[in-house]
Amino acid sequence: MVSFCTREHGLVQAVAQGIGKPGSSLAPAVELFTLSHLFFAEARGADRLSQARVIEPFYPLRRDMTRYGHAAVACELIVRTTEAGQRVPGLFDMLVSYLRAMQSTGNPRLLSWAFELAYLQMSGIGPAIDRCPVCGEACTGGAYVASHGGVVCGRCMPEAGPSLTISRGTVRTLGAMQHFDIDRLDRLHLAPATAEELGRLVRDHIRYHLDISLKSEKFVNGLSQWRPPPRRSAPDVEDGDGGDARDG
Ligand SMILES: [Zn+2]
Repeated sequence: MVSFCTREHGLVQAVAQGIGKPGSSLAPAVELFTLSHLFFAEARGADRLSQARVIEPFYPLRRDMTRYGHAAVACELIVRTTEAGQRVPGLFDMLVSYLRAMQSTGNPRLLSWAFELAYLQMSGIGPAIDRCPVCGEACTGGAYVASHGGVVCGRCMPEAGPSLTISRGTVRTLGAMQHFDIDRLDRLHLAPATAEELGRLVRDHIRYHLDISLKSEKFVNGLSQWRPPPRRSAPDVEDGDGGDARDG
């Protein structure tokens, strides 16, 4: 059983028979992140993938672990929060633009956060950014409070509960990100403090409002924290070729 994000029918779960066999004509279309024309047939109450033609395989995403991880975050978010047959207008085209841009962007993490934010907005549960969710006044910074679903202004902060401080710069960046304009996103440069605030806001919002923690996000975070082990000195033997390489 494979999950497909489709333009016309939303999320489709279908049996893809024989894809493990050598020479299967369906197998290339079932690879992760592949854009394809798909034909489904109904058999015994379940959809079955009957024909497929690959349009764009997005190979670079499968050759780079970081880009692969960020592409997986978007797909996992959709699959885990969408019902089969549920159609979110605009989502399919946004996902294709995202995968295409993820192949070459200089800032995969920013693009991934922007996708997550835009997806939350599309689903009607995006964070309130420019208006305080408590008093409704325009807000240029303050604190993100998950239970209020957005950035609470300075006046409402004391009674708002546990929060994450959000600077004016981060509010501006969030405003620029939420329309998912790829060209504009490519020109954005994040200060380390802004990146820290943004990452925590997106993660906290998804956890609180969707009650999920993404496995692929843990994978990406693990990659960013990974450091190569310190090199050991070469072993004191004549035929030591490759001794270190095996441990690398
Ligand atoms: Zn307020």
